Amino acid sequence: MECKRCLYNEDHPLGITFNSEGICSGCLIHEEKDSIDWSKKYEILEELVNNYRQPEYYDCVVPVTSSSDSFFVLHHVINNLKLKPLVVHYNKYFNNKLSIRNLARLREVFGVDIIIKNSNLKIVQDITRYSLERYGNPYWHILAGNTVFAVQSAAKFNIPLIIWGAHQGIEQVGMFSYDQGVEMTRRYRKDHDLFGKEVVNEDDPFSILNESIFGNYEYPNDNELYEKKIRGIYLNNFIRWDYRKQAEFVVEKYGFETLKTSSTFDIYENVDCYVYLNLHNKLKYIKHGYSKVTDQLCREIRHGRLSREEASIIEKAYIGKWNEYEDIFCEWLGIKKESLEYICSLHAKHEIKEESLNKNEKKIIDKFESTYIQNPIKETGKEGYIYFGKGI
Ligand SMILES: [Zn+2]
Repeated sequence: MECKRCLYNEDHPLGITFNSEGICSGCLIHEEKDSIDWSKKYEILEELVNNYRQPEYYDCVVPVTSSSDSFFVLHHVINNLKLKPLVVHYNKYFNNKLSIRNLARLREVFGVDIIIKNSNLKIVQDITRYSLERYGNPYWHILAGNTVFAVQSAAKFNIPLIIWGAHQGIEQVGMFSYDQGVEMTRRYRKDHDLFGKEVVNEDDPFSILNESIFGNYEYPNDNELYEKKIRGIYLNNFIRWDYRKQAEFVVEKYGFETLKTSSTFDIYENVDCYVYLNLHNKLKYIKHGYSKVTDQLCREIRHGRLSREEASIIEKAYIGKWNEYEDIFCEWLGIKKESLEYICSLHAKHEIKEESLNKNEKKIIDKFESTYIQNPIKETGKEGYIYFGKGI
């Protein structure tokens, strides 16, 4: 079953339901955005954070990536809510130059203390090899690191409030209503962020990872979280969330750099990574039958900026355009290109069928893509991962 309004179908890995008219839960919950009194929600947020202000200490932990939504979250936390955040960042290691530059920019424009977790590279490579082979996912360490480092930091530094951006389960598939005020949980992280795998080697006693990951990716225990009263809130429960409008705001206000890639029309989201929009997207498609492009298009349909028909054309244009940078990935992981292809084939349930576009369809795509606000990097050079550094 496919939604009559957006492009999702019933096989969505986050889980999706349909009403009797064939509209999906993601589209239905999105409608709440137009009926909620968001200024009231913001007042609730202000009251909530007032309880966490600490004299001469951090008021909250804010996890960031080098993507545009991190700028938006910090803009609210610092400029509107007037909080003093401890910013934390898990280094994904698949950084391109834009990633390093945008992170450097974030540190400069907001003037914040930032702690960067640089996990043991050899272990990250071992985990990546393992999660790629076993789950067809090269991104496990990043999903795990991003979702846990903030919680570990909150516990370690005794800062009980964590402020996240959007809850993906709400934004994509309408897993909860905005009125439910859902907060961070160990359970959601395991079931959805990590597709049910809390520790990458939990079902394999012979894995070489057993002795070596040192709790880097493990959630603090419940007693500690309870005693320290640690909670994590999501800003999309308090602010009318519109990823693209927010990205355009940070491009204009903070000079966030954009990048047009061959793998999607969206020049703001996840463009800081050599793997996410390429190999990760390819694996998502062959496993689930859709890619990040579909997520981005559903969002555009729901915000009324695209019709379903136009979105289908754009979706078609990007099918199979995910092969860039695989050489760098294979070299980094120490595997042959043929091995990567073989691993992909083990996880393939959906065939990639590239389709050609007619003149009229190309026109529709060009017209839509020209509405994005560009602020590209102005440089050329050899491609390669940048682990850390300013990059400017
Ligand atoms: Zn829908």
